[in-house]
Amino acid sequence: MSDSKQKLALYGGRPEICEPAEALFHWPIVTPEDEAAVLGVLRAGTMSGTEITRQFETEFADYMELPFALATCNGTAAIQAALWACGIGAGDEIICPSMTYWASALPALMLGATVNFADIDARSLCIDPADIEGRIGARTKALVVVHYAGHPCDMDPIMEIARRRGIMVIEDMSHAHGSLYKGTKCGTFGDIAAMSMMAGKSFPIGEAGMIVTGNRQLYERCVAFGHYERTGVATRWNRQDGLITDPELAPYRGVPLGAAKHRVNQICSAMGRVQLKRYPQRIEEIQQAMNCFWDQLADLPGLKAHRIESGSGSTMGGWYYPQGLYRAEELGGLSCARFCEAMRAEGVSDCAPGGNDPLHLHPVFHNADIFHMGQPTVLAFGQRDVRQGRGTLPVSERIRESVVTVPWFKHYEPEQIRIYVRAFRKVVTNHDQIL
Ligand SMILES: *Cc1c(COP(=O)(O)O)cnc(C)c1O
Repeated sequence: MSDSKQKLALYGGRPEICEPAEALFHWPIVTPEDEAAVLGVLRAGTMSGTEITRQFETEFADYMELPFALATCNGTAAIQAALWACGIGAGDEIICPSMTYWASALPALMLGATVNFADIDARSLCIDPADIEGRIGARTKALVVVHYAGHPCDMDPIMEIARRRGIMVIEDMSHAHGSLYKGTKCGTFGDIAAMSMMAGKSFPIGEAGMIVTGNRQLYERCVAFGHYERTGVATRWNRQDGLITDPELAPYRGVPLGAAKHRVNQICSAMGRVQLKRYPQRIEEIQQAMNCFWDQLADLPGLKAHRIESGSGSTMGGWYYPQGLYRAEELGGLSCARFCEAMRAEGVSDCAPGGNDPLHLHPVFHNADIFHMGQPTVLAFGQRDVRQGRGTLPVSERIRESVVTVPWFKHYEPEQIRIYVRAFRKVVTNHDQIL
């Protein structure tokens, strides 16, 4: 593609994108089949039942090629139940990347544990496998990994460390439904995986979550934590569903040990069953579209694709929240924020500094007294003090200067994608106007 000098829209030039291609980005994709499934639940009045949910779980477990799947009311609940199932309790420690959504880590505090945050790798934006082992201490029970923005974590070294050191692995796959690591689905490597299925995620069914595992004991513990109606005691909503066989859990049938109600609204489950049928084909089209976009920017300085090398057998799944790796030093030091401003002026409306703010600096992990005990919750249960200040996790702390959000194309429309490519090429080629 030839680039010429043009006046940037930031300074009154003609914007590259006059009419945003809403249809390219619209999400979730809702068909008459989704609508019929949802209306069916509404008309039958079975929003609080579990029959459709259990069908959805069976189908999702098959999709994951795992024996157990348990739906939850959201991804946050799924992560908390998974942590509890893995034995996390008062005084314990988990390891989690700092650069992620708060729900990957914060539920540990509600279990009386603390979080030892690890840095991320600047290319994958996932936990840096080299920053795990040194954080493992006597009270470390589990490692939470996040396949960030669909990019699979480097699971081979991660699992090697975890197995050797005897800690559990929880995969937060909220960004990575359908992502592959070396040909195998993310979510099947660790002891248990938990995920969000809220309406913005790449598997979008409203407000819902899911837990998957190959371990029956962990599955039963998740049931015991948040699904009182499925522990084997008949209720109006669930006549008999004797999931609990574990003798340690059996005495508590009929109440949730987490004092939590994680049942998902069946309107979401019904939509989930329909979405699942089309999901593999939908993410294949997204992959084609996103790769088409990035292939046409590959020669530019300053901006690199956040994606997996082709030929590795790994994929980005549904490319949730796609990111570009921004390198100010290749663009004369132009700040990430200013670059994004120039992109928005060209009509790329959602271009902004990307990623998530690092969690290790958030006051909730330093001072919050959640249990009203007169001391910070991260210390109140005898935890080791692993609080980290500024300067400790440099890659995570620079995230708002080093990544930008890029358009999330849901359809392979090369002509329309090319318009967005042109906008990015224009700003990079003419970046000297901004300096
Ligand atoms: C969205 C998200 C969650 C939480 O899921 P909810 O369904 O919103 O509760 C957890 N972890 C990550 C990485 C997420 O992006």
